[in-house]
Amino acid sequence: MNNEYVDLRSDTVTKPTPEMREAMAEAEVGDDVYGDDPTVNRLEEKAAEMLGKEAALFVPSGTMGNLLALLAHCSRGEEVICGDKSHIYVNEAGGMAALGGIYPHPVPNQKDGTLQLEDIRASIQPDDSHRAITRLVCIENTQNMCGGAALSVEYTKQVGHLAQENNLKFHMDGARIFNAAAALDVDIKELVAPADSIMFCLSKGLVAPVGSMLVGDGAFTEKARRLRKMLGGGMRQAGVLAAAGLVSLEKMTVRLKQDHARAMSLYEALKQVSGLRLEAQPSSNMVYFRLDDSVALTEDQIIAQMKKRGVLVDWSAPREFRLVTHYWVDDAGVGKAARAFKETLG
Ligand SMILES: *Cc1c(COP(=O)(O)O)cnc(C)c1O
Repeated sequence: MNNEYVDLRSDTVTKPTPEMREAMAEAEVGDDVYGDDPTVNRLEEKAAEMLGKEAALFVPSGTMGNLLALLAHCSRGEEVICGDKSHIYVNEAGGMAALGGIYPHPVPNQKDGTLQLEDIRASIQPDDSHRAITRLVCIENTQNMCGGAALSVEYTKQVGHLAQENNLKFHMDGARIFNAAAALDVDIKELVAPADSIMFCLSKGLVAPVGSMLVGDGAFTEKARRLRKMLGGGMRQAGVLAAAGLVSLEKMTVRLKQDHARAMSLYEALKQVSGLRLEAQPSSNMVYFRLDDSVALTEDQIIAQMKKRGVLVDWSAPREFRLVTHYWVDDAGVGKAARAFKETLG
């Protein structure tokens, strides 16, 4: 492993592999704002092809990708229906409102990560001059704050159908969409087919150091390209980053089931540790648990003791932890983490 610690804080901690570093060093580059970077162009073509869409745009972060989608789909004063536990609503610094004048209309995320179709339907504003215009519906797959739940092809189709019926655009925050496809064992094309736009991250389970992709039809991505320049996201010899992203698409998308299997072993091991309350089985690469009331240690004390034992963890809410498996966590790392929890809480 490339690290003395077993780092379970997030899949964003993944450092590039030696193969990625080599590809980065050797990348053919050009000025991407002129469209001259052959490596970025290859990455964008490959991402579009894998998702079965017309075009893709390489962006510095998932947050920027989601913001570009919101700005491209919605005008000021228009509404987006999204989950109350969704990243765009909770964890993007209110960007849609601050920068786009876009109004979030949150509906409850169910335990399985979905938004109920009736809730979406009931949130669509009538044609009434008192109301904002509903323009977009957004779902997140996998749903991070709902245990990394993978939303099914069937559900995604239903949301797409509902959006179409009501003349709404449909954006998918697919930061971990390849994890969702792996968890469901489905073709990613099928999973994203109903969406007008999809953002996914190269920098999480796909291990690249930097970058996300925004994917959709040609007119959408051209609009997003102009907005990306407006936000200062036009990068120059970005091929050094895109080169790692190509390794992500070619090599990392096909191995995510290993991370999911390790999340399951970690879950099974932690079920044996007294003081930890595990609920639903992990459906992708995340294990969530709560501390029992019998545990006297604070979250920060647990984090410190785990670190002394060589394992990095983080809490996700008061008395709640989220552990994430990824490329740099092997079977020995899972074993070490389970032992460290046993010792810390024992
Ligand atoms: C990480 C994440 C993002 C944002 O990606 P960044 O690259 O961290 O900006 C968006 N949505 C979800 C669900 C995420 O997990």
